[in-house]
Amino acid sequence: MTTLAAPVALAIPQVVRHKPTGDLLITVERYDANQYHGSGYRCSPIDNRYSSRGFPDDELESAPPRKPGAFDYRTEIVPRAQGALPWEHVEPVNLAKTLSNVAACAGWAAYPGIAWVTKPGEARADWARIFLHTTQGGGYTGQAHALVWERGPSRKPSHLIDAVVKAASRAVHDRKAPRGDLAAAVLAMEDVPYHQLESAMPSAWLLSICKHEVVDTSTPQGRMRGWRPAHCSKCGINLSVDSSD
Ligand SMILES: [Zn+2]
Repeated sequence: MTTLAAPVALAIPQVVRHKPTGDLLITVERYDANQYHGSGYRCSPIDNRYSSRGFPDDELESAPPRKPGAFDYRTEIVPRAQGALPWEHVEPVNLAKTLSNVAACAGWAAYPGIAWVTKPGEARADWARIFLHTTQGGGYTGQAHALVWERGPSRKPSHLIDAVVKAASRAVHDRKAPRGDLAAAVLAMEDVPYHQLESAMPSAWLLSICKHEVVDTSTPQGRMRGWRPAHCSKCGINLSVDSSD
């Protein structure tokens, strides 16, 4: 009788390493052994939750721990932006303030691709643009502003729709109305460029991996020079600020 090694117990979802290739993957689903194959996990690449395949237990191991001091873009930011890992905190916030923060540019870096946000209590992720908060040193704080696309018809501007209705009404009821009016109104409506279409407003959310508790370790002398070393007591990332020149 042979003794089998106990299967690795991996959380779902979790970043893991595929031992033969060194690739980082996200666990999606556990499957049990049957007569054809041993037990394992279905896993996705960390940047593409839509393609997954099965990996046997003995090919997977926990991902190496990240370097302390900052969040890692590839293993911590990208999988959350792509919806493969959940953000730890998703909170509704004021849309106008969010737009103002994003427009001010300072400290918020646009995530280059389409992102996905699952709102609290919802099963499905929505399309979003996200803006990542950065530390002064260029690291990521694990916070992001999200503008989530809200489904709704994208409409022609209402004054142009009204003009078509009016021209159509005149064409039916007023035999003397110039015959080109209706066609002109329709053409004006059809010519509207896409950026002038009216669509639903997005919703704004604040995404966070950690609700930082800042420990300020600055000294009075340091503060005079604008140097405020600080870190988070929970996740350990470096939140120091140097405002000296
Ligand atoms: Zn923290």
